[in-house]
Amino acid sequence: MHELSLAVDLIAQIEKICEREKATRILSVKVSIGAMSGVEREPMEFAFPEAARHTLAEGAVFEIEEVPLRVHCNACGADTKCVPHLMRCEKCLDAAVDIISGRDFLLTGLEVL
Ligand SMILES: [Zn+2]
Repeated sequence: MHELSLAVDLIAQIEKICEREKATRILSVKVSIGAMSGVEREPMEFAFPEAARHTLAEGAVFEIEEVPLRVHCNACGADTKCVPHLMRCEKCLDAAVDIISGRDFLLTGLEVL
């Protein structure tokens, strides 16, 4: 399960921010998981408290926002949702699409004391 190593990286990223902001406690952490990021919600929900143990993030509220895959179609110009394994424009079904969102696993919010 690679979610645990991602959670450990996430905590390291958060701790760096806390150091800079001189924060002493982390109240909540918000992340976004793209449909094509390869990160699964449930293992991540399990991994975060594991990775947060004995860190400033221990006990923090962990919030996950799921970001659907969206693509821009180079054939018809439409921006549409897309099923990850299909990778086609929802409107004209052309495969000449670029990903707009849904590829990343990102830290999107942090509440500290
Ligand atoms: Zn199209």
